[in-house]
Amino acid sequence: MEREPIIHIENVHKWFGHVHALRGVNLDVYKGEVVVIIGPSGSGKSTLLRCINRLEEFDEGKIIVDGIPLDSAENINAVRTEVGMVFQQFNLFPHLTVLENICLAQRIVRKRKKEEAEAIAMELLRKVGIPEKAHNYPAQLSGGQQQRVAIARALAMNPKIMLFDEPTSALDPEMIQEVLDVMLNLAREGMTMVVVSHEIGFARAAAHRAILMDEGQIVEEAPPDILFNNPRHERTRAFLSKVL
Ligand code: ADP
Ligand code: MG
Repeated sequence: MEREPIIHIENVHKWFGHVHALRGVNLDVYKGEVVVIIGPSGSGKSTLLRCINRLEEFDEGKIIVDGIPLDSAENINAVRTEVGMVFQQFNLFPHLTVLENICLAQRIVRKRKKEEAEAIAMELLRKVGIPEKAHNYPAQLSGGQQQRVAIARALAMNPKIMLFDEPTSALDPEMIQEVLDVMLNLAREGMTMVVVSHEIGFARAAAHRAILMDEGQIVEEAPPDILFNNPRHERTRAFLSKVL
């Protein structure tokens, strides 16, 4: 792994009115690293992810992504094209086919020609295991399939970093593994990933580091085996006793 972090988060604070959602978060993520973030609802996990690609502004501190500080509109746009994000809700465009969903941003942002964008989309659909769904609409797919399309759509932009915010928590139990398998493959290919998820099996298999957030702070970080088996902090133990 390189010395220079691909994501550098330094003393970041974020308020929503009087809610102090992030209270001095520091985190470095290195190229090829997979970091899983766990923690109670409301602890600031989504806010932190959203600050990394500036879907959310922060009030204090700094974030540098791949050498680019998030401090001007131009830089924020540059960072957004390097960072893919997958949400709990798949957010596919319902009136576009699967193929069109995966091609849209490629055409507009990457300025790819139709044929090229479609070839990339098909390759990614094969990668996530559903090439036969290319001409279907999102509503004709299961939740797990829709989430795999959302992952393919993000990957079509050739991101350097992928952020996942509880990607399997809206799915029926029998569909969770197919999405985690796609993510695990990505991790094994060396994608830099920050994943908010309470799928401890995935964290153990894929993560280099697991982090517990609570009340807007990183409470503890360690390799997953250590964080899950032998946490140092009482707050980590208390949280794990609810999810394990
Ligand atoms: P998590 O993802 O860990 O459940 P969030 O990052 O969503 O936590 O939220 C952290 C805190 O910020 C919570 O207290 C939440 O209510 C608050 N919050 C998040 N988004 C907003 C918003 N858009 N407006 C006001 N408060 C918000
Ligand atoms: Mg959240």
